[in-house]
Amino acid sequence: MDFQEEELSQSDSLIGTVDMLRTNRGVLLEAALDGAVNVQCSRCLRDVHCPVSLEIIEEFQPTVDVVRGTFVAVDEEDAALLINEHHVLDIAEVVRQALLLEVPLQVLCREECAGLCPICGQDLNLGLCDCSQEATDPRWDALAALLVEGELS
Ligand SMILES: [Zn+2]
Ligand SMILES: [Zn+2]
Repeated sequence: MDFQEEELSQSDSLIGTVDMLRTNRGVLLEAALDGAVNVQCSRCLRDVHCPVSLEIIEEFQPTVDVVRGTFVAVDEEDAALLINEHHVLDIAEVVRQALLLEVPLQVLCREECAGLCPICGQDLNLGLCDCSQEATDPRWDALAALLVEGELS
């Protein structure tokens, strides 16, 4: 599977086991998958490699009765949990949702990441920019504080 979300992309393939059990209503899916994604550091926006471990237990429902071939009334709210009219059970959406829940909201490339300059956007891990010298002037401090505030809101 290939994930490309706004803030994360897939790094390593998801590998693991998927078991399917027949139930009264449909098919119970049990999956245990390991892989890794790249998430942006919330300070400097660099990609951070983030291992993930997914445990998924979901019941899928058929949209077509396999014996009679007629359509079954289903809850459209659970679109990710439906087996389509060609009897295909697609786990992509369920895995995507589990992945988004698993990835931490705040990721730092390292604890002491210096982040980006709020004025010019330079990555301060790579060195100080010119703004940081001017920022010793108290008038600039007030402006920098405003900009930082603006970034956070
Ligand atoms: Zn960082
Ligand atoms: Zn700067």
